[in-house]
Amino acid sequence: MCGIVAYIGNRPVVDILTDGLRRLEYRGYDSAGVALVGKNSLRLLRSVGKVKNLVDKINKDWPDHASICGAGIAHTRWATHGAPVEKNAHPHTDEKKNFAVVHNGIIENYAPLRENLIKKGHVFTSETDTEVIPHLIEECFEGDFIKAVTAALKQLDGTFGITVISPLFPDTMIVARRGSPIVIGVCENEAIVASDVSAIIAYTKQVIYLNDNDIAVVKADSIDLRNIDNVPVSREISHINWDTGAAEKGGYEHFMLKEIFEQPQAVANTLRGRLDENDATAVLNGLNLTPREIASVSRITIAACGTSLNAGMLGDYLFEDLADLPTEYEQAAEFRYRNPIIQPGSLIIAISQSGETADTLAAVREAKNKGASVVAICNVVGSTIARESGAGIYLHAGPEIGVASTKAFSCQVAALLMMALKFGRARRLSRQEGLDIIHELKRLPELIQEVLKTSRHIEKVAKKYSRAENFFFIGRGYMYPAALEGALKLKEISYVHAEGYHAAELKHGPIALLEEKVPVLALANDIPGKDKIIGNIQECRARKSPVIAISTTGDGEIKNHANDVIEVPRASIFLTPVLSVIAMQLLSYYVAKERGCSIDQPRNLAKSVTVE
Ligand code: GLU
Repeated sequence: MCGIVAYIGNRPVVDILTDGLRRLEYRGYDSAGVALVGKNSLRLLRSVGKVKNLVDKINKDWPDHASICGAGIAHTRWATHGAPVEKNAHPHTDEKKNFAVVHNGIIENYAPLRENLIKKGHVFTSETDTEVIPHLIEECFEGDFIKAVTAALKQLDGTFGITVISPLFPDTMIVARRGSPIVIGVCENEAIVASDVSAIIAYTKQVIYLNDNDIAVVKADSIDLRNIDNVPVSREISHINWDTGAAEKGGYEHFMLKEIFEQPQAVANTLRGRLDENDATAVLNGLNLTPREIASVSRITIAACGTSLNAGMLGDYLFEDLADLPTEYEQAAEFRYRNPIIQPGSLIIAISQSGETADTLAAVREAKNKGASVVAICNVVGSTIARESGAGIYLHAGPEIGVASTKAFSCQVAALLMMALKFGRARRLSRQEGLDIIHELKRLPELIQEVLKTSRHIEKVAKKYSRAENFFFIGRGYMYPAALEGALKLKEISYVHAEGYHAAELKHGPIALLEEKVPVLALANDIPGKDKIIGNIQECRARKSPVIAISTTGDGEIKNHANDVIEVPRASIFLTPVLSVIAMQLLSYYVAKERGCSIDQPRNLAKSVTVE
């Protein structure tokens, strides 16, 4: 998920690698490392924190680095398996140090592979999933570098973008991908490889994007492409005409837009390896709870802030509906200062993208002091909340850079639904009910893709309403938290005053504000509650408010009631809020863009709120 840079050629390799790492820093990472090969020699350095720490170490430990040419690989890690500590930083090697690997992605079947390799005598030094790769290559090695890498890759489930070097073959790098991007820069008598073109464009604008299951054998003067079955393949050379800034954003204008469009992949990563059709449940080993322990939970409190709190509110509905468990959600600061009642059987779920949110952390500590079990749902591995909770679910959504949270929300809801499924199966859901949820979750990435395809239309609607200074977002049931999240997104990035309300609550005061200059976004999806919300839409229209309705694709009825309609695909009540929130993320984005706002860094906001 994070950054790879690799180089082979006759220039000083360390400078090129560290320069490339710096260009990938924008992605967010927790540690960095570099490995170089010469004939029969391998050097390796890794360090926690910024690339600067690695550079300081290089200057100290490799005083001759400016004169080293040849092949090298470097990495910025964004931990998914194992804490962000030096021993887990990449590159990783086998114990003979014959192969060094940098890897982005997640090896799903690393646990059985690792166990098997340990039985065969391999000694592991990290907690990462990645470390199985060099050991497997070593295990498969019979003198042919490419064959060994190919044989190893065939055993991997999950996603990878990798580069491998070996002191036994100092003039060769092997590059491969499945699910994680890898790009090869085409230069004369040298080659540079990276996970992201921004690390390459200073050297060349001619690049080759690998496809899934492609393997490239890269030497200074040749790039030889084949697939995992050793059949030669050819990939065209693309010309990049982005500047560095655009390259960092993958060609999107803002990180926020890039992250909105990354959601199918991000959600697929959250779900990966966690849906078990045999037992019709979710596999969430990080929870450390047996079915018996789950059955003995008597009450759940979800503590979170901001977007995570809105996801938590959906979690409240999910646990009550699917697991028959009394559940409440609470602003984390309130939980902490309100002197919450914790009983035997209370379980606290803390949700925080960064895992550093000060109020949520304080809530975790308060809950633990009162003897509650705590589980965390975080994106950043090894973050304080994840560590202090001691149990939980990582989102694996990849770094989120835009200050307004987008992909983390969808992944949080996917994680909560998996958790509610697991709890439901341990308490009341039938096998068939469990399977229905699994099948729907598996469709989620594809359903999100459908929403993203309508971005042009959403942009048009956004332009039409971009001058409004006040907005209402209304919803009922599962769409009520979605309305809150839609309003939050709009105010965060466009500075338009937006209120999220329960549609029934409108009449109890806010309706006094409705007039033709105040648009209402109504969540009118074709799920229970639709008839009632149509009534609420009429109430708004009667006060001259223009109404934008989010509805279910093909539901012609809504067009008779609303001024503008944005359609999202048909899905169950559990996932419809996610699809509608994504449509509202796009709406907010385009309104903010039309208003000329600083979308990735909105005024007064910080990505991770580490103060109370
Ligand atoms: N899963 C690997 C790890 O945790 C790679 C993470 C990354 O993509 O940076 O080490």
